[in-house]
Amino acid sequence: MTYVVVENCIKCKYMDCVEVCPVDCFYEGENMLVIHPDECIDCGVCEPECPAEAIKPDTESGLEKWLGINAEYAKSWPNISVKKEAPGDSKEWDGKPGKAELFSPVAGTGD
Ligand code: SF4
Ligand code: SF4
Repeated sequence: MTYVVVENCIKCKYMDCVEVCPVDCFYEGENMLVIHPDECIDCGVCEPECPAEAIKPDTESGLEKWLGINAEYAKSWPNISVKKEAPGDSKEWDGKPGKAELFSPVAGTGD
């Protein structure tokens, strides 16, 4: 089992999650974060910290696509363990439907 970052993280990136992870298994893309499924120890601490409710346990159904994205991009995106300033328009994007189309495969800058 692992926890998975899903669609609503796109263009939110509040990053409250990264500071609480005991094993630093978040990785940063240009407009969202992912969790490395082989590094996550399933502690669940990050889930309630995400104000966008964008972190889910992989035991929830329908997350296959996002689990694949987390697993794939955690291999190449840089690690992030320190919270940065969220983009200025984060709140406007929170909860907007159809954000999956805006997913960017471009790596973020990491710590
Ligand atoms: S707190 Fe939630 S929305 Fe923000 S970066 Fe972490 S997973 Fe994404
Ligand atoms: S469940 Fe725990 S180990 Fe996994 S990403 Fe969240 S805080 Fe890190």
